[in-house]
Amino acid sequence: MIHVENNVSLRNFHTFRIDSQCKHYCCVKTEDDIIDVIHQTDENIFILGNGSNTIFCNDFHGLIIHNKINGIEVLKETANDITLKVGAGEQWSGFVDWCICNNYFGIENLVMIPGTIGGAIVQNIGAYGVEVSNVVDGVNVIDNKTFKSLYISNDECRFSYRDSIFKCSNYVITNVVFVLSKKERPNIRYKSLNDAIKSSGCNVTAKDVSNVIKQLRSQRIPDPNIVYNSGSFFKNVIISKESCYKLLAKYPDIKAYDNGDGLVKISTGQLIELCGLRGFEKNNIRIHDGNAMILTNNGKATGKDLTDMFDYIRGKVYNKFGITIEPEVLMI
Ligand SMILES: Cc1cc2nc3c(=O)[nH]c(=O)nc-3n(C[C@H](O)[C@H](O)[C@H](O)COP(=O)(O)OP(=O)(O)OC[C@H]3O[C@@H](n4cnc5c(N)ncnc54)[C@H](O)[C@@H]3O)c2cc1C
Repeated sequence: MIHVENNVSLRNFHTFRIDSQCKHYCCVKTEDDIIDVIHQTDENIFILGNGSNTIFCNDFHGLIIHNKINGIEVLKETANDITLKVGAGEQWSGFVDWCICNNYFGIENLVMIPGTIGGAIVQNIGAYGVEVSNVVDGVNVIDNKTFKSLYISNDECRFSYRDSIFKCSNYVITNVVFVLSKKERPNIRYKSLNDAIKSSGCNVTAKDVSNVIKQLRSQRIPDPNIVYNSGSFFKNVIISKESCYKLLAKYPDIKAYDNGDGLVKISTGQLIELCGLRGFEKNNIRIHDGNAMILTNNGKATGKDLTDMFDYIRGKVYNKFGITIEPEVLMI
């Protein structure tokens, strides 16, 4: 029988650290635990990983199920690759380090991203030109309405930019099947990574790539254990080439990146900077001085402080560029 606690503070369960509460809370360590818990409850449930992409702005009047399903299992190995089944509660960053140590390649560019394996899949995490969807064979889930176990193939996951089917499904992810290469082919096409690798003058191995990325990330992103934040608060903006030409005619300094399919990606951080908001602070929330995509909490922020700041930034960007920016984080 799973122990369910009442009225638990969520402050230490999300990296933005707003002080909110949930009505009920429990930890699950196995698939059977999940089935037990969802059978017993008729409340609203929320599956929580590390809370590094979730901000509890308000109290949650339901049951938080904290996923702690761990374990890494080898399913298959060939001369070229290895197939691994990994518990959804494992730490993503620890898994990346473990793969590099064991010479399994393909996710070294995603080093140091906080969160769990489950959270990484839901969000289709990405960094330095790589997305987790590149190495996923499929995902084992429990449907919390039918209690059935299912295997969702990569195609069925409908991965796209920071998105997947899991954002609007009843699925609880229990573990993920990854296929990683045993051939070392570092991907250094991403410009800032390429520049940094060249300037460090190193022979490029996967380990070097991950070390360089660790350094870059440490310079650009505050440690959420010290400065409370949720990484990039906003999604980058994807617009049509036509809209982009119009924007560039007025603001030629804006950097635009080809996103395929006639679409262009614009850095939301740059739009916020061009509004003069880098380092701007209001009611306990600050736009990070080094990276305008990141909002930080001085430890005293309330949910309202955050939603007010969000509305303020969104309004400024819309008034200047006519673009509506969207949050990358989930605000509850
Ligand atoms: C400092 C910092 C840097 C970051 N850098 C990056 C980056 O470079 N690239 C990037 O893409 N992201 C980045 N992020 C965002 C974040 O790390 C990722 O989105 C991460 O994958 C979230 O994992 P989590 O376990 O914390 O998810 P949570 O925030 O706990 O959950 C996120 C969502 O996933 C759902 N979920 C979690 N586990 C399960 C499960 N087992 N089954 C079903 N649903 C589940 C939750 O219900 C919620 O909807 C960063 C965040 C921080 C704080």
